[in-house]
Amino acid sequence: MQKATIKDFNFNNKKVFVRVDFNVPLKDKKITDDNRIEAALPTINYLLENGATLILASHLGDPKTEEDKELLNMEAVAQRLSELLGKKVLKAPSCIGKEVKDMVDNLKKGDVLLLENTRFHKGEKKNDPDFAKELASYADVCVNDAFGTAHRAHASNCGVAELLPCYAGFLMEKEIDMIGNTLENPKRPFIAILGGAKVSSKIGVIENLLTKVDTLLIGGAMVFTFARALGYETGNSLVEEDKIELASELIKKAKKAGKKLIFPVDFICADKIEENVKTKICPIQKIDKGLIGLDIGPESLKIFEKELINAKTVVWNGPMGVFEIDIFAKGTKKIANIMAKLKDARTIIGGGDSAAAVNQFGLESKMTHISTGGGASLEYMEGIELPGIKAIKDAQ
Ligand code: ADP
Ligand code: MG
Repeated sequence: MQKATIKDFNFNNKKVFVRVDFNVPLKDKKITDDNRIEAALPTINYLLENGATLILASHLGDPKTEEDKELLNMEAVAQRLSELLGKKVLKAPSCIGKEVKDMVDNLKKGDVLLLENTRFHKGEKKNDPDFAKELASYADVCVNDAFGTAHRAHASNCGVAELLPCYAGFLMEKEIDMIGNTLENPKRPFIAILGGAKVSSKIGVIENLLTKVDTLLIGGAMVFTFARALGYETGNSLVEEDKIELASELIKKAKKAGKKLIFPVDFICADKIEENVKTKICPIQKIDKGLIGLDIGPESLKIFEKELINAKTVVWNGPMGVFEIDIFAKGTKKIANIMAKLKDARTIIGGGDSAAAVNQFGLESKMTHISTGGGASLEYMEGIELPGIKAIKDAQ
């Protein structure tokens, strides 16, 4: 389904409610990484260049107590955004109420007003219609550029979009194209690489991707639940006992659908998850008693490389090993490097830790797309229609 984007509407002299993702990491009320604010600039600047007046809204963290409210206000964000835009960003003391309404009424063309943390209001997560109505009353039209919350039906992304026509901002448009359209219409061969800690958190993704891909490569700790389903010995590796049956089903499903489901053949193993421990390479059929499989081994990487080299589309979610520790990062690093070198292929990374790994290796600019939404990108890869995307107008 194609969605309407900000290119499809004339924003001149319009007040625009923009749901952005300013959910930045903070330490002592200071922003430690302003990537998300920077990422929103193309949409904000486009709207301003096209004659709009902006009311920006975002959540920040997950405030629960009064103390959180003190820590998670939007003051630092407003200041950083002012610097990045090179113009004063007004900050509202709340999201609703007379004072905010007056500020909105006094906005002039080209002004930018940032509302307070939307999650300071109970109505946000409940998608309360009255809260949404107040937010919508500020504007003629709304824009959603917050992919990271697209899997949640909250007031600021869904409620408002029921009351105002909603257009996708540039970030949202890119995610829809890169994840949604790629899964619907991939260039082949289409290979997915899945890894990470738990098979249980990726079942939906595996099931959906199995219907779309030509080949599925599995790495990370989730392999060992499959290994047990195959009757192998997994030592002390992470196995989800209650998912062995399901892993067995997935193997059968893949076979029936004629998909290649490829597991590693060897692992870097150790008896503890620590820097500088002694490691041993074990075959998938038999991890030694007392050892944990912590990264995919060299033979596995050769097999994975041979598959990947011809791919035209690669979707990757979940590290191949405990990449946070150097001696177990080789598999993840090698996969990232193979992807980085592919020519004429669309390479897409989803998932918080996978994105962090690619950034850690300094390869982010070599990938076609690194999704900004952790939970949202996973649910999108499961083939679930995300409420935040559904709420955006369909393209004409
Ligand atoms: P993403 O956030 O990209 O979706 P996950 O959260 O599913 O990825 O998984 C990431 C975690 O999986 C990492 O913290 C990594 O250390 C862990 N992991 C990967 N392989 C193994 C393994 N063999 N044993 C234990 N943990 C692993
Ligand atoms: Mg994760």
